[in-house]
Amino acid sequence: MSRFLNENMSGLTPYTPGEQPKSRENIIKLNTNENPYGPSPKALKAIHETDEEMLILYPDPDATELTKSIAAACGVRPEQVMAGNGSDETLAFVFMGFGNHIYFPEISYGFYSVFASVFGCQFHAVPLKDDLSLDLDAFKGVDGTVVIANPNAPTGLAVSRDEIEELLKANRDHLVVIDEAYVDFGAESAAPLIDRYDNLMISRTTSKSLGLAGLRVGWCMACKEVIDDMKKIKFSFNPYNIDRVAMAAAKEALDDREHFADTCGRIMKTRGRTERELEELGFRSTHSMTNFIFVEHEKMPGDVYFRKLRERNILVRHFDTEKIKNYVRITIGTDEQMDRLISETKEILKEI
Ligand SMILES: *Cc1c(COP(=O)(O)O)cnc(C)c1O
Repeated sequence: MSRFLNENMSGLTPYTPGEQPKSRENIIKLNTNENPYGPSPKALKAIHETDEEMLILYPDPDATELTKSIAAACGVRPEQVMAGNGSDETLAFVFMGFGNHIYFPEISYGFYSVFASVFGCQFHAVPLKDDLSLDLDAFKGVDGTVVIANPNAPTGLAVSRDEIEELLKANRDHLVVIDEAYVDFGAESAAPLIDRYDNLMISRTTSKSLGLAGLRVGWCMACKEVIDDMKKIKFSFNPYNIDRVAMAAAKEALDDREHFADTCGRIMKTRGRTERELEELGFRSTHSMTNFIFVEHEKMPGDVYFRKLRERNILVRHFDTEKIKNYVRITIGTDEQMDRLISETKEILKEI
């Protein structure tokens, strides 16, 4: 650290991203929940059609065309949407603008606590229930902004739209942010509630279900007034937050509903059979509603399984947190990749 960094920043503990190897050669990468099928071919075509003119000019700061496609895909109106440079950026704006006191689950997306410290919010970690599900009652009536991932990460567990609605009713005077990064893999979106609850904000991303983690496009949805506040923050920070190439590609990916439905369907099918096969080997699974599974084995601590898979060139994620240290989180890859995971796991179980 240099002697120039200010006091607030020098105390930060940054987010630790999962390992990103230089190449996928010889490695089965099941550690950061990317989509193995990739984006719509139309998104790639849009990237290939990039010309000089597109790069000379600044992008549309309102992301008008992309916003229209997002609204159409999610069944909301364009004025209820703001796009960002990955949902991480949009979430950062939430902590920046709606901070002060923030309540989120004790075990959830690791970035929430980091954002809270960067933007000087008081954060309150709310414990999960013993079965690792969200304790929604504990969030009702709190004096601050609530941020919840639904489905939650890394547990994969989801709550219903009705349960979210109860939470919105109980917290009428505070913003409730639902991070729906994984909602397209079988959970219920809260999007239909936006017209009725001005305290609801939803965060979404193209990184998981649309296969575009490398592109960095996400968005938030809320009533027009909250979206206007978000735009005020964005235009005070980085008006050109999404580049032209990313905007064009994300729009094509969102418009291609067929590729989207097909790839999400394949991932859900592979998820079901991977869970069943691991259960036959003595694993317990949380029955995830995401593109990853969260599993534990009574004879093998999570860090051991993680390490043994790593030795066999399979990357998964382990979290060194008391309540979940027996688990590993495994991204759903292609069927061939999951076959390799299963066969290597059988070998590992023989060793222990
Ligand atoms: C992956 C993820 C994000 C971040 O998505 P980006 O759009 O890639 O920044 C946000 N929230 C959760 C819960 C995630 O898993």
